[in-house]
Amino acid sequence: MSTKYVFVTGGVASSLGKGIIASSLAKLLQARGYSVTNQKLDPYINIDPGTLNPYEHGECYVTEDGAETDLDLGHYERFTNIPTSQANNITTGRIYQNVINKERRGDYLGKTVQIIPHITDEIKRNVKILGNSGDYDFVITEIGGTIGDIESLPYVEAVRQLKWELGNDAMVIHLTLVPYLAASGELKTKPTQHSVKQLLETGVQPDVLVLRTEHNLPEDIRKKVALFCNVTPDAVMQSLDVSTIYEVPIKMQEEGLDQVVLKKLDLPIEGKPELKPWNDFIHNLKHPSKEVEIGLVGKYVELHDAYKSIVESFIHAGAANHVKVNIRWIHSGQLTATNYKEKLKGLKGILVGPGFGVRGIDGKLFAAQYARENNVPFLGICLGMQIAVIEFARNVLGLEFADSLEMDDRTPDPVINLMEEQKNISEMGGTMRLGAYKCELKKGTNSYKAYGKKDISERHRHRYEFNNEYLEKFEKSGMIATGRNPKTDLVEIVEIPKHKWYVGAQFHPEYKSTVVNPHPLFIAFIKATIEE
Ligand code: GLN
Repeated sequence: MSTKYVFVTGGVASSLGKGIIASSLAKLLQARGYSVTNQKLDPYINIDPGTLNPYEHGECYVTEDGAETDLDLGHYERFTNIPTSQANNITTGRIYQNVINKERRGDYLGKTVQIIPHITDEIKRNVKILGNSGDYDFVITEIGGTIGDIESLPYVEAVRQLKWELGNDAMVIHLTLVPYLAASGELKTKPTQHSVKQLLETGVQPDVLVLRTEHNLPEDIRKKVALFCNVTPDAVMQSLDVSTIYEVPIKMQEEGLDQVVLKKLDLPIEGKPELKPWNDFIHNLKHPSKEVEIGLVGKYVELHDAYKSIVESFIHAGAANHVKVNIRWIHSGQLTATNYKEKLKGLKGILVGPGFGVRGIDGKLFAAQYARENNVPFLGICLGMQIAVIEFARNVLGLEFADSLEMDDRTPDPVINLMEEQKNISEMGGTMRLGAYKCELKKGTNSYKAYGKKDISERHRHRYEFNNEYLEKFEKSGMIATGRNPKTDLVEIVEIPKHKWYVGAQFHPEYKSTVVNPHPLFIAFIKATIEE
C-alpha cells in the first residue's frame, strides 16, 4: 500500500493532549498489523529543545540517534515501542535553517525565497522523508501549537497542500475542547465550531473531530458538531478525561477512531486489533497489590513535565511489580543540613534526577547521603549519578572539597571531569555526548542482575564523566564501577555492593522504558523498594 499521512491539529486551547491522541491512533493501527511512526512539527524557532530550560518546555527527550527532542516523542515511543529519530521532530528553526543553507548554496537559482513555496516545500519534504523511507504504512504528524497561532500557519498551509496532492492518502484529525458550564449545566460546542471555521479559513477541512470533554457527549451534541463542521457523524468522537493516559487508546477504540481513519483512507476494516499485552498492563496498573512511596529529588519539581519519562518509567515498572508508585516530589533547593532527614523520612526509595548547573546541588548531595547511610534503595540518573560519586568522595573517601568541574572548576579533587571531547566545544546546541552508546556490565552486580545480560546500550545526554584517576580509591572503599563503555572505558554505572540497592547511571534509562518493555533498572529499583 502507499504510505498514508494523518495530520493531528489542535484548536481552542493548548495542552488538550494531541500527543496522546496521535500516540493512541498509532497504537491502534499497530495493533491491526500496520507499521506506524509519529512525527511532531514544533512551531518555535529554536533548532531543537535541547537549549530550552525545562521550565519552558518540560523534559528534553533524547532519541537513539542523539536528537534532542520534544517530550511528545517519549509518548510515541512508550505507546508504540518503536524508536524515533531526528526525522521525527522538526522545528521551525530547523526548517528555516535548511532553507537558508540552501539559499546560501545557490540552490534556488536566483529566485526570491519565500514562505510559500520554499518554507512550505521544506516542511512537506520533512514530512515525506518518513513516508519515503518505505518503513511505514502510516506517518502520523502532530502539528504543535493551536490553530490560529501565527507560528503554525506555514505548517497548516503545508498540510493543506499535502491533502490536495495526496488525495485519499492524507487526512486531518482536529482536536478541540468542549467546555462544561457548571452554572447552566451545559456542554458548549461553539468553541469547536469556531476552531473548525478557523481551520477552514486556511483551506483545511478536518476529517475527524476529537472533542476533549469532562462529561459524556450525548448523541445530539455530536450530530450538531457534525452538521456545523462538515464531518460525518461517526467521525465526531469524544475523548473523555481518564485516570491514566494509557487508557486513551482503549477509549478511542471504543469511539471507533481506528475504524474511521481506515475508512477515510480507503483501507479495509478487517480482523480484531491485538491489544492483549496493552490491556494486561492496564489491568496491572489498576490493581496494584501495594503502594510504595519514592522520593524524586530535583530542582525542577514544580513542573512535573520536566521529569516526564522518569514518571512514566515508574508507572511501567510499578505495574510490572504489581505496585503503585507514589512520588514524593522533593525540591533539591529546599533540602538543607538541618531538614533533610525529616523531609526524606519514610521513603522506600530515592531517585536523584538529571540536571545542569550548581543550583540545588547541596540538597541532592544530602539525598544521596541519606540513601547511602540508611540503606534506602537509590537510583541516580546522569547528574544524579555524578552526585552519588561526589557524595561518596566527600563523606567516605574524606575528600572534603571533591566536586564536579561543572560545579567548581577549581576543586582540588575533580571526581567528575569534563569529557576530553568536550574540552574545545563552545557552542551549546546539540554538542553534548548524545544518544545511544554501548555499555558492558560486570557479572554479579545489581545492574547485571537487572538486565540479565552483559552487553547493553543506553541513551546519553551529558558533558561530564567519572574521573577514572579516582577509580581505584572508590573501588577500595566500596563504590565500584559496574558498567563501562567497552571502547573508551568511561564509567557508565556505579554501585555500592554493600548497600541494599544503590545504583548510579551516567545514561538515561527513562528514555527507553515503554509499556511493553518497562526498563530493567526501574523494575529492579522498584523491586528493591518493596523487598523486606
Ligand atoms: N550536567 C551534567 C553533565 O553535563 C549532567 C547532565 C544530565 O543530568 N543530563 O554531565
